Amino acid sequence: MSIQVFGLPVSRGVAIGRAVLVASSRVDVPHVFVDPQDIDDEVARLVSARDHVSGEFDALKRDLPADAPAELAALLDVHQMLLQDEALIGAAADWVRQRHYNAEWALSAQLEVLARQFDEMEDAYIRERKADLEQVVERLLRHLAQGDAARAQDPHRNPRDFGGEEPLVLVASDIAPADMLNFKRSVFTGFVTDVGGKTSHTAIVARSMDIPAVVGARQASSLIRQDDYIIVDGDAGLVIVDPSPIVLEEYRFRQRQSELERSRLARLRHTPAVTLDGERVELLANIEMPEDGQAALEAGAVGVGLFRSEFLFMNRGGNLPDEEEQYDAYRRAVEAMKGMPVTIRTVDIGADKPLEGMTSSELRHESVLNPALGLRAIRWSLSEPSMFRRQLRALFRAAHHGPVKILIPMLASQREIRQTLENIAHVQRQLADSGKPFGKVELGAMIEVPAAALTLPIFLRHFDFVSIGTNDLIQYTLAIDRADEAVAHLYDPWHPAVLQLIASTITQARAAGKGVSVCGEMAGDPAFTELLLAMGLRSFSMHPTQVASVKQRVLRADTRRLTGLFDEVMGSDDPEQACADALRASTGGAPAPTRALSIA
Ligand code: PEP
Ligand code: MG
Repeated sequence: MSIQVFGLPVSRGVAIGRAVLVASSRVDVPHVFVDPQDIDDEVARLVSARDHVSGEFDALKRDLPADAPAELAALLDVHQMLLQDEALIGAAADWVRQRHYNAEWALSAQLEVLARQFDEMEDAYIRERKADLEQVVERLLRHLAQGDAARAQDPHRNPRDFGGEEPLVLVASDIAPADMLNFKRSVFTGFVTDVGGKTSHTAIVARSMDIPAVVGARQASSLIRQDDYIIVDGDAGLVIVDPSPIVLEEYRFRQRQSELERSRLARLRHTPAVTLDGERVELLANIEMPEDGQAALEAGAVGVGLFRSEFLFMNRGGNLPDEEEQYDAYRRAVEAMKGMPVTIRTVDIGADKPLEGMTSSELRHESVLNPALGLRAIRWSLSEPSMFRRQLRALFRAAHHGPVKILIPMLASQREIRQTLENIAHVQRQLADSGKPFGKVELGAMIEVPAAALTLPIFLRHFDFVSIGTNDLIQYTLAIDRADEAVAHLYDPWHPAVLQLIASTITQARAAGKGVSVCGEMAGDPAFTELLLAMGLRSFSMHPTQVASVKQRVLRADTRRLTGLFDEVMGSDDPEQACADALRASTGGAPAPTRALSIA
């Protein structure tokens, strides 16, 4: 019988495929498809890992001191027995043969199956053997990782390359943003997690991959089983397990429709984003890695409005990139954008983007207590001046190769502004003394803390531009943790307090002749396009995949007819409804005309 699991829709579209359950601690296990001719070798890797670990257990048992407690020897026997059970290696080999999973993936898939069986046992003693099984699998995985796991295989290979392979959907209790990055261009066509909010960084990365995703689907990883056939409805926040044929057909139809819609929108790529009354609007891209510049160009973005540089610092066991490595990455992003501006944000580490293996005691401390309010973003950079200056030097040097804008996250006070500017001046002197070429940059502040929005004139005095980070501005204005699914229903971009702060920031920045853009998720949500235009916004930064749909709204907008929209929305008890009603009324209930249609 089919079951439905509800969560939060975070990345649009429909994915249909087999569930791959991955324990949160094992998402960094390589997930690679094995070529059909290499299947036997992959099974042999499993068998050889088993033999190796079995030898380790024998040696451990043999070397036990004479006075060791008898339980230790018994425990090693249990581990040996679990290791030798056909339900582990034999069944994992079936995953390799039938689904072409690599050995590590097959083992973790089989572990999920067995762990669930243990969970369902009546007998508490047997239930507790799950921990032993996990230890055995950890040993096997460690051995595989040390061995020839790094064999050249293409992690980006599409599952459908192996005729008959079905698309796969990743289901996990949680996926850290850093691990999510590993899944970019991976084999998965959809994501489901138990935890997370709409603008948690895991959701943001899923959106940047344009892969249907549902987060905060609390029970998903316990209700869905390995290999279940599932539908992920990323528009409604719904996961359907084992759908009936009629439901399946309906969703396949929707998949085809959205593919058609995408290819229709893709034709807008070269159309300039100009409103019906001739207002030019800048549509920029948010990226996580230099390579994403390509997607930004393909989407028709006219620059990068937010490069989240912290992703360069992740997945490296806490070894931070040095100046040369960062310089190289920023230069590549600049070159990829072929003369268009690239706005690079200094690291925003902390909150839901912790660094693995950090040694700073403060960082560990804050991550336990109240991460979103802790040592995050510029606060962390200022507490680690040598790291901060290293990044600033790399940024100024990259600016020698093309237009770079530096964006500082989460500033709240004058003192932080002063310290930031002192570091920048210091780095410029250092670079001048060193004789290394470096370029001029524009300097911007993110407005994502209400304190910054409420004291904007101070920021406008010191910075060339501001960029509104609505994700955090909403979080900090409404006191709602953006990554916590328990309060996700209260996370409200339509809240008048939020709209007021955004509007006043735009108005003041424009009056001061300074650049202003929005780079939070609101910029890429077409539901807000007209309202933001009505507030005076002319620069939006979003995931490359969102550029076309926002552009379509821009092309259909007439800013002269939007003048009263903000007041109308603010004067209403239901701003979202008021906005939709006002827009419908302004077009007489019909879709507004669009210049784009003439080119379609
Ligand atoms: C924001 O807060 O809106 C923003 C763009 O930054 P991030 O989502 O990375 O916190
Ligand atoms: Mg932010």
